[in-house]
Amino acid sequence: MTLVVEDLVKHYRTREGPVRAVDGISFAVESGQTLGLVGESGCGKSTTAKMLVRLVRPTSGRILIDGEDIASTRGAALTRMRGRIQMVFQDPHASLDPRLTAGSTLGEVLAVRRIVRDRVERRARVNELLELVGLTASVADRYPHQLSGGQRQRVGIARALAVEPEIIVLDEPLSALDVSVRAEIMNLLTRLRDELGLTYVFISHDLGMVRHVSDRIAVMYLGQVIELGGWRAVSDAPLHPYTRSLRDAVPVPDPELESQRLVTTLRGEVPDALNPPAGCRFHPRCPHAEDRCQAEVPQLREITQRHEAACHFSEQLYPEARGLLSS
Ligand code: ADP
Ligand code: MG
Repeated sequence: MTLVVEDLVKHYRTREGPVRAVDGISFAVESGQTLGLVGESGCGKSTTAKMLVRLVRPTSGRILIDGEDIASTRGAALTRMRGRIQMVFQDPHASLDPRLTAGSTLGEVLAVRRIVRDRVERRARVNELLELVGLTASVADRYPHQLSGGQRQRVGIARALAVEPEIIVLDEPLSALDVSVRAEIMNLLTRLRDELGLTYVFISHDLGMVRHVSDRIAVMYLGQVIELGGWRAVSDAPLHPYTRSLRDAVPVPDPELESQRLVTTLRGEVPDALNPPAGCRFHPRCPHAEDRCQAEVPQLREITQRHEAACHFSEQLYPEARGLLSS
């Protein structure tokens, strides 16, 4: 199995004009691997996730699973393709129906998708799914408000697993959780990936978080991928000034401050996706920007082996870019 994204674009139509949420991104994920997708709030991560699971229709571009384009698939073929790729949402509270018990949530997926038709068998499969995510069968009778945040996210993960997908898109799956349960859920996710041979697209605003789970990392800025490479190369030896500033941002334990910390590390705010800057989109905030950066769009290009960056000056700025380090 291979997941390939080719020149994917989503422009939301608004009264003010098109919001360029995702503006031509490409990447590939191999079977059993994890691609980390990182970037500040508003850079287009969730829009990408929603396009991958067909909750949002792309403006253009292709999403290929084993060469088959899910963007143009319809009818029965679409249902089958949808079963191959599932999503775990950031906020399990918002994504679970408050009127359904955990058991009904999972049972409904099994019934609607016609995975288990028999009621008694369905009940057994629900218990199996709960067990798979580290919950006891008694959780089946509880409503979302009767569960802890960690338990709710486990139910969200079980729901994604119910259709036996090959690929799971995890959109900031730990962000809404208490710091104390994040490690547990992270361990669960990596165990499930390895045991079930799953392929992940793991989204986070925190480079420090994705580096531990990813095989490769794609860094997004204002709707574009500006760096792509092996996890170690991207997190330890970034070739783009934006990735450097993400890496050098010191974590703040307070979640309120956490969301602001990049703003204070980087100069200025993220520009509006309605009116992205000309040339390099990062140039107004870049400490190394020169005239060329305002005029000429830097293409994502391979700088060292399998390590790409979209900066005119990677080689001048970073000795790693001169081939001293390979990913
Ligand atoms: P992220 O998940 O990285 O925070 P999003 O994909 O949610 O980013 O948003 C990317 C950009 O698209 C932002 O500027 C956001 O305001 C805008 N956006 C997201 N959803 C919509 C929508 N439904 N209509 C208009 N603009 C949207
Ligand atoms: Mg998001």
